[in-house]
Amino acid sequence: MRKPLISGNWKMNTKLEEAESLVRAMVAELDSIDNVEKVLCPPFISLAAIKELIKGTSIELGAQNMYFEDKGAYTGEISPIMLTDLCDFVILGHSERRQYFAETDELINKKVKKALESGLKPILCVGESLEDNETGRTEQKITRQVNAGLAGVSPTSQLVIAYEPIWAIGTGKAATGKQANTTISLIRSAVANLWDEKTAEAVRLLYGGSVTSSNIAEFIIESDVDGALVGGASLKADEFVSIVRQTSSLKSIR
Ligand code: PEP
Repeated sequence: MRKPLISGNWKMNTKLEEAESLVRAMVAELDSIDNVEKVLCPPFISLAAIKELIKGTSIELGAQNMYFEDKGAYTGEISPIMLTDLCDFVILGHSERRQYFAETDELINKKVKKALESGLKPILCVGESLEDNETGRTEQKITRQVNAGLAGVSPTSQLVIAYEPIWAIGTGKAATGKQANTTISLIRSAVANLWDEKTAEAVRLLYGGSVTSSNIAEFIIESDVDGALVGGASLKADEFVSIVRQTSSLKSIR
């Protein structure tokens, strides 16, 4: 049985003080929900402070990006060895990084390899554009991103993949639970083809794109959806707690 995982991607939001207040507002409630893995991905500058605030709880931390070298002349970048002291997870290949920072599948692949080598669990994001979706190229696009992102990577259940259709991110237009499950099943098959059935069954696959407390149930009840990567709604303590709580209670009837 795969443990459900709900991760909050705060993106480029919250100054340090705001980040601390947000964590204080939800730490106790999140900690009390124990059959869901809960991961907060704040901006880099808040990781150390939040690490202190969640010490001794069941909440984990993730970064939103990293570079694939340990150190050196890479002005402005953050390395895996800086992150391993602070967090367990790292989001890689988010569509906003592909779109605004020109990240390619090749670059993302280097980051995935390096994250795993360094002991960080990658949350590899894949997703098709509205045009790909409307022209029936979702499967082709997703399979290409999975194969390229995992090229040369040894099978591991430490990997998490988030299916995030670009047209659903931050738009308020989420996919339906059925749509998400169909594409996520394709991702599981792609992982099985590339690696093996057993590992593919163990890898957690998340849905992301306009998830809120009002629609999380629709995704979580689906057989291949193991959780969610939540953007906007993770910036509201009540919303995020409700998403985790519903995931916890629905897990038992999956
Ligand atoms: C995301 O940033 O990964 C995301 C899914 O955002 P939102 O939930 O706001 O659509």
